[in-house]
Amino acid sequence: MSDTEDLRTLMEADRWIDRVNAQSTHLPELVELSAVENTLRDLVKALQTAQAAQAPVRSAYEEAQREAARLAQRARDLETTLATSTANARELAALQNELQHVRELLGRVEDRELDLLIEVEPLDEAVAGVRARAQPCAERRGVLLAEIGALRATLDEELTSLREARRARAAALRPSLLARYDGALGRVGTSGAAQVLNGRCDGCRIALSPLDVDRWKVQPPDTFMDCPECGRLLLP
Ligand SMILES: [Zn+2]
Repeated sequence: MSDTEDLRTLMEADRWIDRVNAQSTHLPELVELSAVENTLRDLVKALQTAQAAQAPVRSAYEEAQREAARLAQRARDLETTLATSTANARELAALQNELQHVRELLGRVEDRELDLLIEVEPLDEAVAGVRARAQPCAERRGVLLAEIGALRATLDEELTSLREARRARAAALRPSLLARYDGALGRVGTSGAAQVLNGRCDGCRIALSPLDVDRWKVQPPDTFMDCPECGRLLLP
């Protein structure tokens, strides 16, 4: 094979590797994943806000519940004592008084419990609502991560075999040409050579000046001028 053909196969190998690399870093799934993760982050914030509003009301409600249960039990105990008591009239009156007092307290605590219940219900619903919105997002995130993992594994496998083929092609090239090629590749990426198409370097896509086109046309076979813009070896 001529130097031109060797360079062309190496250029094509590198361009292919570059395309697969780009595919791997520009998966549409990555765009969706980033959107899903942004939504999840917003929902986490919304959940924290909803929980911060819910927590004090819910704990006050639960405290009122416990207090009501305690007072109800105390009232029942007093009723039992009264029903079975053999105490004197004064002691009975004291028990009656206490029962009266406990029942009043219980009434007030039950009112408070009801108010707090009415207050906590929409706050509970807000927390549950955020959780319900987050759940499908979290599931979608899991699916996307699995898909991205599988796609990347396939692309990595492809890259491994492409790089192996590339090594064989590079080894076939004259060392001095390979050094020039790799130098340009290291500086500009994608490939170290490019083709001239309609007077343009198809590596950097910049038009060559008429003078450079003339220079390029009169090159002896298998000599290669560098693109004046990107420095890639220019192939016919
Ligand atoms: Zn160029």
